[in-house]
Amino acid sequence: MGQQKILASIVDDPWKIKALRNDISIFTERGGTIAFLLSKKGIVVVDAQFPDQSKHLIDELKKRTEKPVKLLINTHHHGDHTAGNISFKEIVDHVLAHENSLKNQKNVAISQKTEDKQLYPDQIFTDTSHQKIAKEKISLYYHGAGHTDGDAIIHFEQANIVHMGDLVFNRRHPFVDRNAGANMKSWISVLKKSVDQFSSDTIYIFGHAAEGYEVTGTADDLNAFADYLGKVLDFVDSQIKAGKTKDDILKATEIPGASQWKGDGIQRPLQAAYEELTAK
Ligand SMILES: [Zn+2]
Ligand SMILES: [Zn+2]
Repeated sequence: MGQQKILASIVDDPWKIKALRNDISIFTERGGTIAFLLSKKGIVVVDAQFPDQSKHLIDELKKRTEKPVKLLINTHHHGDHTAGNISFKEIVDHVLAHENSLKNQKNVAISQKTEDKQLYPDQIFTDTSHQKIAKEKISLYYHGAGHTDGDAIIHFEQANIVHMGDLVFNRRHPFVDRNAGANMKSWISVLKKSVDQFSSDTIYIFGHAAEGYEVTGTADDLNAFADYLGKVLDFVDSQIKAGKTKDDILKATEIPGASQWKGDGIQRPLQAAYEELTAK
């Protein structure tokens, strides 16, 4: 294979891998950002995108280590984070998620008749969970409802890296899954608790980002997203009080005071805020 061909194949890969700190990297292709740890005792993976993507990831992991995959953690149940679990079926020791993530994953799979395509968590947690692998300690926290009612926050303590899953959409309008227990007011407090809990040196990983923005960042990005969610709620509340209908409110093209959030999908948080604020 000539040099030209090798370069072409590098450019052609639809996925990207980026090292963050202490043997922890991120994998991005299609779906929620994946994190993985390569330790002396084995591999830990957070989230799995879709089946094709997780196969790509597993191929890349095999190039880097012969160690086994010890643990797959799901930040929450959505298909762009768990559909790829199935590729780990024969090779992972355990799959771990919040108890509500398992409940939600089952509910969706049953209603969509995709149960045979799932690999469910065999371990669940309620408030916190602590894992140790080689020198790394991994702590999982649940701070309440946010993007769903089952979002885990995953802290690699030695590396001081926190995977926020879809609790952060970096400068992008979020999906708010009210059918799976999402709550925007509670989401704001989940973000504030996270900022208080971790340090100024923490690297945060986000499930999604707008075009041109990173899927990693700092506490400033969490604060900015919490501020945005508050602005959405304030805006919709003021519109309801001004007698606007739901249809009128959904026509908005910008959230006042949150000009960094542009692009498509604005109806998703507007509708969720409307339903949350008018719920009896
Ligand atoms: Zn997602
Ligand atoms: Zn999600």
